[in-house]
Amino acid sequence: MKRRTFLREAGLVAGTAALAPDVLWGAVAVRAPDVVLRDGLVFDGTGAPPVEADVAVTGDRITGVGPRLPGAALELDLRGLALAPGFIDIHSHTDTVLLVEPGAPSKIRQGVTTEVAGADGSSMGPWSEQEVASRRERFRDRYGVDLDFRDVGGFLRFIDGLGVAVNLASMVGAGQVRAHVMGADDRPPTPEELERMVAEVRRAVADGACGLSSGLEYTPGGFADLDELVALASALTGTGLPYASHMRNEDDHLLAAVEEAINVGRFAGVPVQISHLKAQGERNWWKAEPVLRVIEEARADGVDARFDVYPYIAYSTGLSNLFPIWARDGGEDAFRGRLRDPALRPRLEGAVRDKVRSLGSWDSVQVSSTDSDALAWARGRRLGELASERGEDPYDLLVRILTEGGGGMIGFGMSEENVARFLAHPLSIVCSDGSALATEGPLATGTPHPRNFGAFPRVLGHYVREKQVLPLERAIEKMTAAPAQRVGLADRGRIAPGMAADLVAFDPDRIADRATYQEPHRYAVGIHHVMVNGRLVLRDAEDTGERPGRALHGSMIDHR
Ligand SMILES: [Zn+2]
Repeated sequence: MKRRTFLREAGLVAGTAALAPDVLWGAVAVRAPDVVLRDGLVFDGTGAPPVEADVAVTGDRITGVGPRLPGAALELDLRGLALAPGFIDIHSHTDTVLLVEPGAPSKIRQGVTTEVAGADGSSMGPWSEQEVASRRERFRDRYGVDLDFRDVGGFLRFIDGLGVAVNLASMVGAGQVRAHVMGADDRPPTPEELERMVAEVRRAVADGACGLSSGLEYTPGGFADLDELVALASALTGTGLPYASHMRNEDDHLLAAVEEAINVGRFAGVPVQISHLKAQGERNWWKAEPVLRVIEEARADGVDARFDVYPYIAYSTGLSNLFPIWARDGGEDAFRGRLRDPALRPRLEGAVRDKVRSLGSWDSVQVSSTDSDALAWARGRRLGELASERGEDPYDLLVRILTEGGGGMIGFGMSEENVARFLAHPLSIVCSDGSALATEGPLATGTPHPRNFGAFPRVLGHYVREKQVLPLERAIEKMTAAPAQRVGLADRGRIAPGMAADLVAFDPDRIADRATYQEPHRYAVGIHHVMVNGRLVLRDAEDTGERPGRALHGSMIDHR
């Protein structure tokens, strides 16, 4: 560019930007916009009331927001539709599924444009060379995909080169770091081990991880005590990135578990993101108010605590989680050995029956998947129903499924009132706690939780439009600007010039989830267009085949 031209353009940009930056940005850009989205009801993600406006996109950026923007090669008519920043799923289990189905259909069709993976203490590495080798073989056999990474940084680079539909950020999992350094046993780390674990967390964050996650109801992550968690979380101090926790307990010891999560933030000096807040079991439903008060008081006390929530009264986890954590110490084989040990049966059975009683009955537990096809008859069925049908004791049936391969469960344990209360609370952020699945192919098996297909549309349809639990602009903020701020995605989550062009256009009168507990493999309806990094991945509710998703790094440094 000639020097004079450069000066003229630089002066023009500076001059007009000072007059009306939002409206004129598109008009003064060196390039004409590639796409103009016309006459949508624009929710900018901040929680502000919507305005009718055009939005211009040039390359991978939003370059204009305002009335009657100049034309572009591609124009989309959004009359009657809402336009929001693409949704950011702050607690997602989309990790390896992207290697299987890069189109991420069940998430794209919810309007999700960024997945925050590495949840519940479980991330893609760090792995040893042996672990990498065994996973590599498994993936090559099962999906024909060749893995060549061993940690979160490598995973992000791998995803970046893969060509996927969604953006992906990832936390580093405290449980995975522990497993890597210490193995599966229930013991405290030696000082050297702790040092190595802290170094792994620090390295992951330097490589782009957007926080540290823990899963304290799982093994071996749950063998960590408060001191260990504070030490690991301290690797985040000064970055602004959060410690996100699936807490040690979500039912009878919920309040103590919330205190522990907050104390990690307090002692390490980092934000705390409580994962999928819930009060499980009718006898614990009263705890919703006290638990919110504990979080509010922590904030008043200087701890930056928030929580996420998914819009369902049932949770989903492994069937083995019906058993106390001591029973799962030492890995799968040790667990199965204990299940077969007659001397341990009274203690184990007592604990499981109490857990099931707290949920309601054996029919509060639905088998979502079984690892062995020989147990396919159990998929999608309630344990109580199944046991009486087969003339078997439900506890024996559960043990049989677990010893013959294991599987997943859906537990009906929460109250509708509490789900609504959490969603409406100013500190909540919406999540799915699910993965990108599909209605066809290898990701269409079993009877997974409907949240994998419906979480975000369910909030906008059921809780906003039908139950009027919170205003639409508030719900959108909890899916966009709030999670972006939380995990350091400074240029996502808002509609404004200069922000990344991740956008979703939906019909606020028709958006709805269609997935049910019996038939979860159904895409949501009412999502018209989804744009990721300036390219349409869904147009008129059809997959365009574009795969513009990138790996995103969590960073509190604002580069704009
Ligand atoms: Zn979890």
